[in-house]
Amino acid sequence: MQAVLQRIESALAMAQRASGSVRLLAVSKTRPAQDIADAYSSGQRAFGESQVQEALPKLAALANHAIEWHFIGPLQSNKTRPIAEHFAWVHSVDRERIAQRLSEQRPPGAPPLMVCVQVNVSGEASKHGVNPASAQRLARKVAELPALRLRGLMAIPAPTEDRERQRAQFRVLKRLYDELRAAGLALDTLSMGMSDDLEAAILEGATLVRIGSAIFGHRPAPSPSRLDTSCR
Ligand SMILES: *Cc1c(COP(=O)(O)O)cnc(C)c1O
Repeated sequence: MQAVLQRIESALAMAQRASGSVRLLAVSKTRPAQDIADAYSSGQRAFGESQVQEALPKLAALANHAIEWHFIGPLQSNKTRPIAEHFAWVHSVDRERIAQRLSEQRPPGAPPLMVCVQVNVSGEASKHGVNPASAQRLARKVAELPALRLRGLMAIPAPTEDRERQRAQFRVLKRLYDELRAAGLALDTLSMGMSDDLEAAILEGATLVRIGSAIFGHRPAPSPSRLDTSCR
């Protein structure tokens, strides 16, 4: 945890950005509740999960902790209800129908669900995310829904070791973010950057990085039954 916070601060310094201007989301998918409790003890409050069935028992086990839960995985329209009921944020909204359902299913009296629109910045390499040309239309739709609050944009670039190619994909998202803000949408969150590319993301303007393995260690390889839903 401390090493990652240090990497974030170094990248901010290199980008000549203000210290503390990037939030750390600890991605706890595949990790037991105890690992989350340990990170919580060292001060971390925001945790990300990418599969509903895996997340729910952990949310229940940690219900007495003041955790802000973020859903970052692929969304299926028949599984939106527990997300609308139990999470504070969703980073992966990529179609209107999902946004509509999350808004309808948000419990009355709950604070609005914070939403990022997921954008496909890598072309054919990903089947998730709205294409950049359709992002403004979807963002406007999210902004109109009563139980959602539009906060920003999220992307998962195609994995590559090439730093320039990492940055080029992040730049697509940053440019879109600036365009939408200029068009009057009140965005404050640019969710991009993972363990292997957080420096590139911060150089390109990320305000939130989603970090799993650099905090918790390498995940075991996914079993075949998980391959269709995990992003890597
Ligand atoms: C798993 C995951 C991450 C974290 O990936 P690491 O490489 O372990 O840091 C970030 N974002 C999403 C959407 C993920 O599914």
